[in-house]
Amino acid sequence: MAKKKQVYKRKPNAYVKKKPYVEQRKPNAPVKVEALADVIYYTDGMTVFDFAEALHRPVAEIIKKLMFMKILASQTQTLDRETVELLTMEYGLELKDEVKTDMTKFEELTIEDDPNSLVERPAVVTIMGHVDHGKTTLLDTIRHSRITAGEAGGITQHIGAYQVSRNGKSITFIDTPGHAAFTEMRARGAKITDIVILVVAADDGVMPQTKEALDHAKAAKSNIIVAVNKMDKVGANPDRVKQELADLNLLAEDWGGSVPFCQISALKGTGVTELLDTIQLVAEMMELKANPARLAAGSVIEAKLDKGKGPVATLLVSNGTLRVGDAFVVGTTYGKIRAMSDDLGRTMTEAKPSTAVVVYGLNDVPMAGDAFMVFADEKQSREIAFKRSDRQIREEKGVNKSMSLEDFFKKAEGTEKVLRLIIKADTQGSIEAFKGAIDKIKVEGTSIDIVRSGVGAITDTDVSLAEASNAIIIGFDVRPQASVRDTATSKGVEIRLYDIIYEALEDIEKAMKGMLDPVFEKKTIGEASVRETFTISKVGTIAGCMVTSGIIKRDSLIKIIRDGIVIHEGKMSSLKRFKDDVKEVKTGYDCGIMVEAYNDIKVDDVIEASELQEVKENA
Ligand code: GDP
Repeated sequence: MAKKKQVYKRKPNAYVKKKPYVEQRKPNAPVKVEALADVIYYTDGMTVFDFAEALHRPVAEIIKKLMFMKILASQTQTLDRETVELLTMEYGLELKDEVKTDMTKFEELTIEDDPNSLVERPAVVTIMGHVDHGKTTLLDTIRHSRITAGEAGGITQHIGAYQVSRNGKSITFIDTPGHAAFTEMRARGAKITDIVILVVAADDGVMPQTKEALDHAKAAKSNIIVAVNKMDKVGANPDRVKQELADLNLLAEDWGGSVPFCQISALKGTGVTELLDTIQLVAEMMELKANPARLAAGSVIEAKLDKGKGPVATLLVSNGTLRVGDAFVVGTTYGKIRAMSDDLGRTMTEAKPSTAVVVYGLNDVPMAGDAFMVFADEKQSREIAFKRSDRQIREEKGVNKSMSLEDFFKKAEGTEKVLRLIIKADTQGSIEAFKGAIDKIKVEGTSIDIVRSGVGAITDTDVSLAEASNAIIIGFDVRPQASVRDTATSKGVEIRLYDIIYEALEDIEKAMKGMLDPVFEKKTIGEASVRETFTISKVGTIAGCMVTSGIIKRDSLIKIIRDGIVIHEGKMSSLKRFKDDVKEVKTGYDCGIMVEAYNDIKVDDVIEASELQEVKENA
């Protein structure tokens, strides 16, 4: 019995013991917190359930807490930031706002790699300079040296970039046609080149485009190496080039500055290896590094729509390693890399930092300068691409709204009319050529505004943009799908398709002329000769006339010509046949004409009638 009693005693004992313990813990809330995080992150639209989950507490407990705060809430109810903050404080925690990385703006993100994972990467080089100073020749010589060096015997294809190897290290050359492409890429945020080679012909010196190239290179914060070219030519004067560049604040190393000058002959190949060595020296000093272990990111060098292979793009990997099978976002489109090749057409399975590769497997054609980034899978890539495309449409619409307003004011002042165009073509080259040619069309009182230009088929996005900005869509060697055509028709958007640039230009010029306010020209419509005159007091002089040619109309403008001299210009105050007012009198008929505010009309005077007629220029 005694034993039993003991057991019985323990039970309430234990119960009693536990109770005050629980009682103690309740007011002392932070004790419960040991399993929780130090901070709670507030997210937009956070519900009671979300909060409970973040806190690792039962939903019922949170609802109860809210009731104490006189808030009746269900678990799906969203909480405002203030309430969440109060709740968080109840638990002795700190509420923070979650800083979310917006992956849709990936080009704005700075990639910071662990210094231990960084390895040296090749320099990316662009050759710039005045036309005819030897840029193409230099590129060809460098490329040729590589091929003869036995790297491969394949036929090189133009992919906008290629790599050469020197002293066991690579250099990547970007071959963008002209400075415009370079600027455009830069304008679109692409920081592609590390080093700019400024080619200046030793026999010609600094020319306008040399200065332009220099400005671009400086603005892009690229390191500059000057290649004084055509040293083989009689009259080559490298010191003059040095002096002229010094005047532009580009001081040669041997003149106490920091810019390496290399004297070369791109044609003969002399000095080219030294130039490559200099590039590597500069690159070494720049300590160019990247992390090949991360997912790739970089920019589009070139892109086009291949009739057989679909959208094709040359990508420059700036960081990470790009692999076949990678899902990626580029510009406002996405893809999964189906295949990759280099400029010799060799199949590649991966591309390391500073390598340019041609990739297949895109869903649409991106634009040169577009940024790309590899994501975990195709689904995520697609979502990000859609968001980016959406934003672009909104932004473009926004931009064009304000532009239209401006144009509206312009119109109100009666100064200028704007023809807006959206240009789509199969290659960037056609677009550049077309843009260049359009610049030369000058029709007074009008201007052209290229709302968007891009490589690829005409899409619904183009049509929406055209509708929003009142633009005409011009397509070169690209065709819209039937559905896109239908949308355009229903929205009243004009799509014009061409195969030849010249034809498009002609039409545009016509359109621009047609856009002008009609021009009126005075056209003579008839003549009458004065046979006799009658003067009626209080009325004036009436000229009795015979219409000798054409027609005389009541509202015609008239000239009175006497002995071949125009002695009066004005209007009629009446035109009669016998006693009746008439609207017009034809050749061979008599009529009576009174001239407004003019009575000095004489026999044999000629009355020439004219009217304003609209002139259709180039009609
Ligand atoms: P780009 O317009 O700058 O690309 O110039 P090109 O490379 O097309 O060269 C223009 C002209 O200069 C061509 O006729 C070349 O053969 C010639 N040229 C280029 N480099 C040299 C050189 O080092 N020496 C000589 N004599 N002619 C050159």
